[in-house]
Amino acid sequence: MPLSSSLLLLALSLQLSLEHQARSLQPGEVVLLRVSAPAALSEVSGEAFGKPLLFFQANPGEWLALAGIDLAAKPAEHSVSIEAGIVSGSEPLRAAIDLDVQPKSFPTRRLKVDSKYVDPPAETQQRIQEESRILRRIFRTVTAERLWKGAFVRPVPGRANSSFGKRSILNGKARSPHSGTDFQAARGTPVQAPNRGRVVLAKDLYFSGNTVILDHGLGLYSYFAHLSEFRVEEGLAVSIGDVLGLVGATGRVTGPHLHWSVRLNGARVDPLSLMAVLEDLAGESSR
Ligand SMILES: [Zn+2]
Repeated sequence: MPLSSSLLLLALSLQLSLEHQARSLQPGEVVLLRVSAPAALSEVSGEAFGKPLLFFQANPGEWLALAGIDLAAKPAEHSVSIEAGIVSGSEPLRAAIDLDVQPKSFPTRRLKVDSKYVDPPAETQQRIQEESRILRRIFRTVTAERLWKGAFVRPVPGRANSSFGKRSILNGKARSPHSGTDFQAARGTPVQAPNRGRVVLAKDLYFSGNTVILDHGLGLYSYFAHLSEFRVEEGLAVSIGDVLGLVGATGRVTGPHLHWSVRLNGARVDPLSLMAVLEDLAGESSR
């Protein structure tokens, strides 16, 4: 049989499987997508929630990608479609699944903070706008290399409260929802890198105080706020457990704690969801 027809037969007999794994399909959750086939796949691409999926190879016949359901996502059926090549140059195989995103109602939190963080004075407007430009630029940059590996660990030993997504009323005024998780920790507690990455920002920002942002690669970022001190500088490559800084109370806070936010391809997701999904994955093997 000519080589091209045996490849065609192989392609026809191959079943591509596309599965998902998540704590729940709700705003703020991380979804792990798994593509598997009985033969080696040369490349896998796809789209979910209007964003390209960045697949990486776990085994020759198994590719994985993380997708984020943004905090403000509307409940709806979202179609995930993927394409996989078996041999480069051959017709790709396709698969699709529907993810039914369910509604989630987030509680409201009322806080009293320094009024300069609720109605910033006119002279700070330029600084605030410049800082939000810097953050937008960081979060839309996608590093093609995966820097993270295996499970994410807690950045501080303290308990996390379930503060992700809470609607915020600050000094009686509605402000943007809380896009991270707060961890209880005393001032001066070392903040450890939850996974491998590169420091892309170590800077005092108006609202989040002393802030460190780690790029974990493939569109995944960790954001740590309100530090009292930095222990890293921009450009540094960090390993899991490296100390990034110390817990503090800088910026818009009511007291010392660690704020950890995660961005996944622009989506604001709960760090506890990321930890849960990757813990399950790490449990399966030593990825
Ligand atoms: Zn917070």
